[in-house]
Amino acid sequence: MRDEANTVTLDGSEGEGGGQMLRSSLSLSLVTGTPVRVVNVRAGRAKPGLLRQHLTALRAAAELSGARVEGAELGSREVLFAPGAVTPGAYTFRVGTAGSATLVMQTVLPALLRADGPSTVAFEGGTHNPMAPPYEFIARAFVPVINRMGPTVACALERAGFYPAGGGRFTMTVAPAKELARVELMERGAVRERSVVARVAGLSEGIAKRELAAAREVLGWEREEARVEVLPREQGPGNVVLVTVACEHATEVFARVGEKGRSAEAVGAAVAQEAAAWMAAEVPVGEHLADQLLLPMALSGGGRFVTTEPTLHTTTNARVIERFLPVAIGWELSRSGSSSHHSNQWTVTVRGR
Ligand code: ATP
Repeated sequence: MRDEANTVTLDGSEGEGGGQMLRSSLSLSLVTGTPVRVVNVRAGRAKPGLLRQHLTALRAAAELSGARVEGAELGSREVLFAPGAVTPGAYTFRVGTAGSATLVMQTVLPALLRADGPSTVAFEGGTHNPMAPPYEFIARAFVPVINRMGPTVACALERAGFYPAGGGRFTMTVAPAKELARVELMERGAVRERSVVARVAGLSEGIAKRELAAAREVLGWEREEARVEVLPREQGPGNVVLVTVACEHATEVFARVGEKGRSAEAVGAAVAQEAAAWMAAEVPVGEHLADQLLLPMALSGGGRFVTTEPTLHTTTNARVIERFLPVAIGWELSRSGSSSHHSNQWTVTVRGR
């Protein structure tokens, strides 16, 4: 079938060459109504093409909008997505493996934020996966920024699904806003609350205790700021360590999922080091929140935030967004660490064109 004249064609081998290009282009296609063809899907990855998580995101986007889709198969390296109108309402999207359910959410949420009615959506699959936002990051770091833009989004974790077992479920209700308001996150303000939580399901509590000891050693935090959470056995086997820092103007959540072959000490220390680096940088927005805020900010017509050095993931996402929306996304070093003991800070700006 021939592409419609306004179809955007994206080469998935450009930039980072990963799954984000596909998810972002689906989100953008849904909100703009512009069809998209993605070629060389995930060409930069060892196992290229659509994985279960990407396929679920594609099907979810299609279900929301009655889209015409080509290439909706596992392993597919070329996808055409031509959306219809987005229909808000009640949906359940199932990854069916431990593939990330939060990344499926990331794909469909932008379209629901400006839909012409409320939605209630259940997402099933992995809620705590490596290389994907853990549920708590969505609930505490990402959603509060979205709510500052005008919509009312609320989410609830019904059961955890840890990589590699999966089987989790969370729900999200979305009361949309007609227009999204611009937001700026330029400073984080005073720390209000901080915690390190080691959670286990169907695994020994000793793992969680060792993780907390390692994390506290890196962070230098008090015993009261660290706690073990034991979930029902049937939600496992699984383990995650979460570091949450809630500040006056921003909250960040750092996570590491425990994996076979990786010591509890290594898991606890790694997440603590990431949190410590963010604290030392004195920025409101961490690396992952940075790439995830670009698209909602572009929908609102602009925005600005201070963060650490943009990653290839962020810069690739920016270029995809610019193909669909009349915005220019740029970044500049706004505080240089070279002249003092401070770390570098970058200001990312989304400008309407
Ligand atoms: P691939 O790159 O193999 O195609 P993928 O499609 O699953 O994999 P990526 O393209 O790497 O995923 O995108 C991962 C997404 O998950 C990004 O939005 C990134 O910000 C987010 N993410 C990864 N790790 C974390 C984390 N620890 N906290 C919050 N968000 C995270």
